[in-house]
Amino acid sequence: MKTYLGLDLGGTNAKYGLVGSRGEVLERGRFSVRSERGPDGIIEEMIADLKALRDSAPSGGKPLGLTVGAAGRILTDEGVLVFAPNLPGWRNVPLAGRLSEALDMEVHLVNDADLYTLGEWLAGAGSGLDNLVGFTLGTGVGGGLILGGRLFTGSFGSAAEIGHMVIEPDGLPCGCGSRGCLETIASATAMTRTAREWLAEGRSSAFQGRPDDLTAATLFDMARQGDRLALEVFERVGWALGLALTSIFNILGLEGAVIGGGASAAYEFFLPRMRKELASRVFAVDADRVRLAQATLGDDACLAGAPAMFAGR
Ligand SMILES: [Zn+2]
Repeated sequence: MKTYLGLDLGGTNAKYGLVGSRGEVLERGRFSVRSERGPDGIIEEMIADLKALRDSAPSGGKPLGLTVGAAGRILTDEGVLVFAPNLPGWRNVPLAGRLSEALDMEVHLVNDADLYTLGEWLAGAGSGLDNLVGFTLGTGVGGGLILGGRLFTGSFGSAAEIGHMVIEPDGLPCGCGSRGCLETIASATAMTRTAREWLAEGRSSAFQGRPDDLTAATLFDMARQGDRLALEVFERVGWALGLALTSIFNILGLEGAVIGGGASAAYEFFLPRMRKELASRVFAVDADRVRLAQATLGDDACLAGAPAMFAGR
């Protein structure tokens, strides 16, 4: 059986694992990312943990390569982490090269939303599709594109930043410098901000605590209990995702979309509006035939995607 290593480098934790060629996670581990150690200290820890996992694999089952996913700007072809918003001090780190030398194996470095999409494509809700978009709804909104059965990263290694599709030209400022991006409406952060604004405007809701304590998880619970305000927050998310999907499907003629990330737990509440918006607007595809699906792999998606970067896996 062919196996691979995967590592998902976050701002507070790194998760890693041994993965079979069909995306099945066979073993997993994690360590805390203490950013004060700087890139060198964290890379040392990665190497030590990955070596231990590599060497624990049964003989004949040695992993054939490693894929690392990280948030931030990444040059996939060069294996360079240019900049990571949640990893202070990381600038132009040739991460793939350093890990490849230390572990003596082929190493790929990709954006974490790309890796998430690859995992759902290989082993989750997007399996069997050749042309697919993935969304991750978390602190921000990430995206990944698979075209013709391959990850598409564009000419500059940074394609599929679908969280920064403009939905409202005069909307709220976004961290990217633009306004009204999908991320300003459909991220977990944006969902709670919308709810707080509506509470401040005096709209009625079953929510009794301090608006600052409101989270995406609280909103989800409120929606399940039929709270009007929470349901309208998710309807707004569905509206924005439906607009984004319309443009993506019209341009690329995809077969499906997978929606994951922590805030996708509320999928059932934003699906109806998202589907309606898509069906009433899209032109290039038959809205009834495209697959819209909630991600199924949860936290394992990034590890599951590791083998997908290797041809002939
Ligand atoms: Zn933006």
